[in-house]
Amino acid sequence: MITIQGKGVSAGVAAGPLYFYQRAKSEIVRTTVADVEAEWKRFKDAQAKAIEQLGALADKARAEAGDEAALLFETHQMMAEDLDYEEAIEEAIKGGTNAEAVVSDVRDQFAEMFANMDDAYMQARAADVKDVSNRIIGILTGAVQGGIDSDVPVILASDDLAPSETVQLDKSKILGFVTEGGSGSSHTAILARTMGIPAIIGVGDQLKKEYAGREIIVDGGTGTAVLEADADTRAHLMKKREEQLKLQEMLDQLKGKENVTKDGHKVRIYCNIGNPEDVHNVLKNDGGGIGLFRSEFLYLGCDDFPSEDYQFEAYKKVLSDMDGKEVVIRTLDIGADKQIGYFNLPQEENPAMGNRALRICLNRPEIFRTQLRALYRASAFGKLCIMFPMVASVWEVKEAKKMCEQVKKELDNEGIAYSNDVQIGIMIETPAAAVMSDRLAKEVDFFSCGTNDLTQYTLACDRQNNDLGRFFDPHHPAVLRLLKMVTDNAHKNGIWVGICGELGADLQLTETFLSIGIDELSVSPRSVLPLRKKVIETNVAQVRDKLLGDLASDQTPV
Ligand code: PEP
Ligand code: MG
Repeated sequence: MITIQGKGVSAGVAAGPLYFYQRAKSEIVRTTVADVEAEWKRFKDAQAKAIEQLGALADKARAEAGDEAALLFETHQMMAEDLDYEEAIEEAIKGGTNAEAVVSDVRDQFAEMFANMDDAYMQARAADVKDVSNRIIGILTGAVQGGIDSDVPVILASDDLAPSETVQLDKSKILGFVTEGGSGSSHTAILARTMGIPAIIGVGDQLKKEYAGREIIVDGGTGTAVLEADADTRAHLMKKREEQLKLQEMLDQLKGKENVTKDGHKVRIYCNIGNPEDVHNVLKNDGGGIGLFRSEFLYLGCDDFPSEDYQFEAYKKVLSDMDGKEVVIRTLDIGADKQIGYFNLPQEENPAMGNRALRICLNRPEIFRTQLRALYRASAFGKLCIMFPMVASVWEVKEAKKMCEQVKKELDNEGIAYSNDVQIGIMIETPAAAVMSDRLAKEVDFFSCGTNDLTQYTLACDRQNNDLGRFFDPHHPAVLRLLKMVTDNAHKNGIWVGICGELGADLQLTETFLSIGIDELSVSPRSVLPLRKKVIETNVAQVRDKLLGDLASDQTPV
């Protein structure tokens, strides 16, 4: 028996064979070639195929998002046959090295050269040359698909998983996650909680490749994983699983009950989801609505920009399945840890503070417009609220609202139906938005506090960095005071305010949130009933003065 200790980020006990995630990759083997002419032809064929693929992508982008989106792929086409690039490749192949190794070398040389230039436009070409070269290498090698190649469900092990990898996994094959790295606020941990799958992160080098295929039991509550457990340990963990199932049965009795405190304060408990299939879990756990649909996961699940129709169908399904209950769909929140290759964003020193979320949407309006059209078309099928992420300034909100008006006008002209009752809201995730919330409240119908990012930016503490430990403290009075200030400003202006960051499900703070006057808490589906239990047990009148007093001093209320 081997015990592995990490950090539990999604509770529950699961047992199954340990399986190591196979990352999608192009194997590049360096060889010496005798027939250099044949090798050069192999490169030219792959280059031609890449140019053909990029042409098809440009056509598709033009049809769906206009000329500006197509331009990107056309630039990549030009880069693929750039004379200097081609000459560097020809010289190395004719020196006797195989094509894929040469393209990989030339990619790195050119990317470094671009990255070192003074001009920002030229620096951004580094990402382009990498993208084009990787496409050619993929054609030359026949890229290996990532994922789970197993007939039975597994406990999935990995160094770490990017959100784009997590979102493309076949969830029916996953019983649990164990990762070497990661952090509790990362999107992979958030996805695990949304799916209700036990997960442990940060086990480091305790996880060895030779363990593959052996039985492992993970306890996502304590962060312990046990390989080939002895009889006693197995019995203990299985008993724990039984108890959890019993607790769930008890919580199930709360379905259909109101979220109301002993002294009559009501709060709406909604759910966070990442894709339309998660609605099943929302309804199963009696979520009152959807407080955050992270729409970027639709984009992360695609190999290319999702079309307006594709998005429309996804949003329509969520709205129809929720059957008239409120659904808050957040517009694209790409960037930071959620990177998507086909966006071709330049590499950044500080991606969390870089070109992300609403900034990308305002800079690349063709992408934003496609999403807004899909959203407004879907609004005819339910109760839609649109929410913009990563707001820092009032002008950003005004510009985004203007885009909404333009889209509505377009739909009017085309005779396409949409609801006139769509609420527009913003996430409060930056200290700037919190400080400006008195002004921002005049522009929108609601606020939803993204405490994952609000903690990160307020405390200057990277949410992805597990080593920061106690310094990343969402209970910090600075974060809680901002939440109170935002709530007061929202209510003064007659709008509602929610929390959709992970903190919303933190039962140690439920009394504080109720005392502050938060109107809505949006949590992973599995957290709905435990939170309802806590609300029902709370008496706000009894705790309010003490908790608000703690906030006014420098005490954390818990
Ligand atoms: C947040 O920042 O709290 C939030 C809900 O958004 P995300 O976790 O997707 O960044
Ligand atoms: Mg966020």
